Order: sequence, then structure tokens, then C-alpha cells
Amino acid sequence: MNNKYELIYEGKAKKVFSHNDLDKVIIEFKDDATAFNALKKAKFEGKGKLNCLISARIFKLLIKNNIPTHFLELKNENTMIAKKIEVIPLEIVLRNTAYGSLCKQTTIKSGTDLARPLIDIYLKNDELNDPLITKDRIELMNILSSKDLDLIIDLTLKINGILKSFFKNIQLKLVDFKLEFGYDLKKNIILGDEISPDNCRFWDLNQKNDTILSLDKDRFRNDLGGLIEAYSEIYRRINNFL
Ligand code: UDP
Repeated sequence: MNNKYELIYEGKAKKVFSHNDLDKVIIEFKDDATAFNALKKAKFEGKGKLNCLISARIFKLLIKNNIPTHFLELKNENTMIAKKIEVIPLEIVLRNTAYGSLCKQTTIKSGTDLARPLIDIYLKNDELNDPLITKDRIELMNILSSKDLDLIIDLTLKINGILKSFFKNIQLKLVDFKLEFGYDLKKNIILGDEISPDNCRFWDLNQKNDTILSLDKDRFRNDLGGLIEAYSEIYRRINNFL
């Protein structure tokens, strides 16, 4: 990114720059990967570009389905222009199938398809290690009103409906995903962040018997290798379909 844009914020996987229009930002997707609250780090050449292109496609699909998102347009392959938002410091995780931390913290068996989607909310705070948080604690901390939290939960369930059926069409099981929301300048709640294999779990439905083939960041978390190949496969399938 040339230096006429001011770096406003640098996260683990993205950089956010100012835009000439004050209600917009420029988001650059990095090749860095982190896991376990950044205890594990690596760089994968091409990851930023793939996540940016995948997110753009998915945001467009959501916008078409009347979900308000921050996405405006792609600037280039690893950069997008988005609406400026005030990020709500919560990570909204929706689970269709039990996996990951849910199975470490409960007695639910890994791989169990849940009778209805489960929403787990985490406080976005690296120092506290993103703890699981309750509705009452969210209100107590004045992060959100009960009405706005209900709105976010409702949006998350709608997004799941759209994404689950879309990914099923391209032979992917949407196991779980993490969303982040924010307030735009008009104080509307809109979807922010990204939707990519970095924050969704995708299992290939083309596998015979019950073998799990992860096409997401678990390839890095669990040292499975082939991360770029997996992300490229997700992009290829999305592109062939949309
Ligand atoms: N997730 C994420 N960022 C986080 C934690 C989780 O994007 O800081 C995503 C993760 O990719 C998965 C879902 O949220 O799709 C649920 O993750 P889980 O709580 O099972 O945590 P993990 O097993 O990754 O520790």
C-alpha cells in the first residue's frame, strides 16, 4: 500500500488504512496466519489474496440477500474498500456441528451435528484470551443493549441460513464460523471483518465414509499442511458456482 494512506489499525491478518472518503476504509489482507491467540505464527504466500477474494464473493452474496455488510468493492486482489465501522468487541461464533473449543469445554462429541445452530459469544480481548461471555455480562459491560444483541443474533442466524445452503451447493459442510459486527456512521449495525477459511470451518462433502477433510485454517492449527491448496479449492468452487 503506498504511503498516501494512513495505517489506522493493524490486526493479526489485516491492515486497515484511511480512505479519502471519511466514511470508508481500505482493508489489506496479509499473508500472516496465527492460531491459539498468536502463540503459533506463520506466513503463507497468497493467503491474503485468497481470503480477500473469497470474502468479497461471500459479502456480495450476503448483500444480495439483504444482509448489511461493510463491503463496498475490491480495490485489487488483496485489498478491499469497506464502510468505516466502529467495531463491537465481540466474536460471534455460530456452530452447526460440534468441533474445536466446544468439544474441549463440554462433553459433546466432536463431529456431532447439532439439532439447531448454537451461538457462542466471546469477548474480543487478546489480554484476556477472548473469553466466552454471557448476555448479562455483555450488558453489564455496556458493550451492547439487549435489543442490539438480539439483532446481532438474528442477523447471525440469517447469515447461517444463507451460507449453509450456499456452501452445501458447492459440496462443503459449514461446520462453524466467527463473525464480527460494528456500527456504521449512521449507527446501523452491519457485518464487518471477513468471511474466509480463516474464520470458518469447511469440511469437504466429497469425502467417502466419515473421513474429515478440512479445507480451512485447521490445516495450519493442526499442522496438516496444504493450506494454500485448501483455500484455493474453496475459491475455485465459489468461483465456478457464482
Ligand atoms: N474462530 C476465529 N477466531 C478466533 C476463534 C475462533 O475465527 O479467535 C473461528 C474458527 O475458525 C472456527 C470458529 O470460530 O470456525 C469456532 O472456533 P472454536 O471456538 O472452536 O475455536 P478453536 O477450536 O479454533 O480454538
